[in-house]
Amino acid sequence: MNMKRAIVFDRDGTLMEHVDYPSRPEQVRLVDGVELLREIHREYLLFLHTNQSGVPRGLMTATDCRSVQREFIRQLGWNPFAQTRIAHEAPGDEGPDSYRKPSPRFIHEISEEFCIDPRAITMIGDSECDALAAKNAGAKSILIRSPRNGSMPPDVDSLEEALSLL
Ligand SMILES: [Mg+2]
Repeated sequence: MNMKRAIVFDRDGTLMEHVDYPSRPEQVRLVDGVELLREIHREYLLFLHTNQSGVPRGLMTATDCRSVQREFIRQLGWNPFAQTRIAHEAPGDEGPDSYRKPSPRFIHEISEEFCIDPRAITMIGDSECDALAAKNAGAKSILIRSPRNGSMPPDVDSLEEALSLL
């Protein structure tokens, strides 16, 4: 019986503190609870999906973006993610070919590639687009309270609380 389950994490505002268009490694600060990834890693495949529109907007370079991601992984102390998708598409480009959340493309792809039913995938994030990406893919979502919740009601107040719901 296939009982594979997965979690897709948003990065900014979910696993590290939110910064508008983070472009420098010194802006990376992990949130409380990231150490719990070691525990949930035993039962779930973990993925990372972050929108980084600062690149197409000209606010940072792809190299800046990579240096922030590298620092994020360095501070975690390991790379828990089976696959990472940094979506560089500009706002407004959320069509079927785009990886920009709320596009369901990344969730669809990992569902196929790793043979996981979308209903066994949970997106954890702090923005409306995270919850909508999950909805568009037929996956579940847990939305952490933040100023970026938009029209979606938050489910929890923290990452720790989100992980306790799994
Ligand atoms: Mg976020």
